[in-house]
Amino acid sequence: MSAFADGSCLLAGGAEGPAALRPLLGDVLEALAGGAGARGGPLPSGGPEAVAADVRRTVREVLPERGSGAREALDSVVRLVARGAADPADPLCAGHLHCPPLALSVAADVAAGALNPSMDSWDQAPAASELEALVCRELARLVYEGAPDEEPDALVTTGGTEANQLAVLLARERARMYRGGGAVRVVCGANAHHSVHRAAWLLGLEAPLVVPAPRGVLDPAALEVALEQTRGEPALVVATAGTTDSGDVDPLLEIGPVVARYGARLHVDAAYGGPLLFSERLRARLAGLERADSVTFDLHKLGWQPVAAGLLVVPETAALRPLDHRADYLNAGDDTEAGLPDLLGRSLRTSRRPDVLRIAVTLRALGREGMAALVERVCAAAERLAGMVEADGRFELYARPAMSTVLFRPAGAGDATVALVRRRLLAEGRAVLGRAELRGRLWLKATLLNPEARPDDLAALLKLVHDAVPEGRR
Ligand SMILES: *Cc1c(COP(=O)(O)O)cnc(C)c1O
Repeated sequence: MSAFADGSCLLAGGAEGPAALRPLLGDVLEALAGGAGARGGPLPSGGPEAVAADVRRTVREVLPERGSGAREALDSVVRLVARGAADPADPLCAGHLHCPPLALSVAADVAAGALNPSMDSWDQAPAASELEALVCRELARLVYEGAPDEEPDALVTTGGTEANQLAVLLARERARMYRGGGAVRVVCGANAHHSVHRAAWLLGLEAPLVVPAPRGVLDPAALEVALEQTRGEPALVVATAGTTDSGDVDPLLEIGPVVARYGARLHVDAAYGGPLLFSERLRARLAGLERADSVTFDLHKLGWQPVAAGLLVVPETAALRPLDHRADYLNAGDDTEAGLPDLLGRSLRTSRRPDVLRIAVTLRALGREGMAALVERVCAAAERLAGMVEADGRFELYARPAMSTVLFRPAGAGDATVALVRRRLLAEGRAVLGRAELRGRLWLKATLLNPEARPDDLAALLKLVHDAVPEGRR
């Protein structure tokens, strides 16, 4: 049976699905190329109004009485979204931790969609669930490499936000188990990601105790003062390895012993910095990470995966036990006893995409060396851009980059001008830069995640910024 007049097959899976998919994928690829060509830059020009008008004009009816057919719908909608995209594959799109995905990962994702394994029970994902277990263990070993006696493990999440939530939840449940209370005090740096605050709010905990981070990183002496204040109450210290604003890494080697002395738990949010572990040369920057009780790790930032590709890593599987949960239709006791793997405790979600499939393909295709080479390349690009900024009297550099983020501003410009420059580049469709407020001033943020960016692109970015400063404010 078919919904289409031409009688074409409806479904993507099975032995016949691929034949149905092939021409449609051809249409998608053509529309992607056409849309990117029509855009001709890192993002569409004209700002929100122009883009919204294009969307409304093209779509007109979201749910027409009679459908337009697969090929027309794919062509018009994909082309529309491509021409209106902020495309991180363009080297001038460098605003956020928004990476350009690898082609091979996106290709693998087609298979994930076609087969649609759902990771909440073995009978929906027989091979995918085992693959997920293997990949999680391997990435967990990367994080806890220095701890050979343990069996580190990880959960797949929708990203750093969910991983941080789970970390706070596990700390709360641990406090409940060992101390009888159901509360834990989150203690984090002023540089911590906003999702740490939301996690405390979501879980009904007191707002985090915020420790000053005067130089962009958590100050261990100030942490000690904060932990004095929480004495008697279970505490979870959240440190950051790669801040969203500047890529800075908290001094983990100093923080670990302070946390231990106060009997607190340590979570390290390495959503950005985690993949430095792939690189023999750069992994030393994360020294001390292995002392954490849990680690957030995100492969849709420095891992070149499409969203979502997050992980929460723990030193041993037993740490995940608070998430155990029973639903008779998914993991009945007798099924589990008879040997069907129980997957429900591997997430707070129920139906869940096999994001691990494209991660597994990527890790296998590139190997540790290949992943390291990409990470090293973007860090080297940041070094280069910082050097160019420093050597150019028209700009001021915030600091040498800790990872792949460069903060700078036009010399002599006020904060309002910095903000205006950023919005002007966005509205004209010329470049996407982020913004960060540090040391009391506003900076332009170039988050370099494009391993194919060339020195020319970096020079072009600086020229665009300079040209966007209004005359009279230069
Ligand atoms: C991006 C980021 C997060 C949030 O991750 P998502 O994948 O966007 O949910 C958390 N922490 C840090 C340090 C980040 O940079």
